Amino acid sequence: MVDSGVSAAYPIIKNYIESLGRSLNDLENILLTHSHPDHIGCAAKLKEKSGCQIWAHSPERRMIEETDLQFSVRPVPGFHTLVGGSVSIDQELFNNQEIYLEENLMMRVMHTPGHSAGSVSFRLSKDDALFTGDAILLPGEMPIYEQVDEYLLSLRKIDEVGAKILLSAWDEPKSGAEIPSILRASKNYIEQIDSAINTTCQNGKSDNPIDFCKQVLERLKLPVPLANPLLVKTFQAHLD
Ligand SMILES: [Zn+2]
Repeated sequence: MVDSGVSAAYPIIKNYIESLGRSLNDLENILLTHSHPDHIGCAAKLKEKSGCQIWAHSPERRMIEETDLQFSVRPVPGFHTLVGGSVSIDQELFNNQEIYLEENLMMRVMHTPGHSAGSVSFRLSKDDALFTGDAILLPGEMPIYEQVDEYLLSLRKIDEVGAKILLSAWDEPKSGAEIPSILRASKNYIEQIDSAINTTCQNGKSDNPIDFCKQVLERLKLPVPLANPLLVKTFQAHLD
């Protein structure tokens, strides 16, 4: 399984696995793209119920194994409802690692940082499908990432891979010409954000981080009341 959804997703996941004629006991590994609540929320419970292993990239390890620490540095609203607790990692992933899920079914790990420093994508050899987690920000979505240059490089890396099917956490599956199109749209969105931040700075940036965040949201025509510390970090990343 790639990522585990939020804590409340447990019955949905269990029912889905059972609808396939399988049971939770058949779940062997959960491969995590990164440590954020909507990707790890249900991992602890699934591990407890199924005995599966948790695999994740080492830079994300502490945030998965110590969720209180994650909350202290990344106070996502509703964090403790979304995340059902810390979970220990059984296997550390590394860039370019080949994981054999079955004899002829290989999944390759691809480091795609930017959204978070340790974010990875998984490329499934069969069907040439690429699971990208949150590596591709959709235009108009709340912009959440930590590193701008790395983010753009990851978009290029995903483009160069030329996968046939793109499976992003917050989007419908994409294929064919839709893939370069969504990657281009995401890159344009980042450039639009960069330009909004530059214009805000030129026209008098507030020294208060939340107010600065509101100024940028307003310029981007995004909902101003949604200004929060995560967006502050994203916009700050453009100034670092
Ligand atoms: Zn995320």
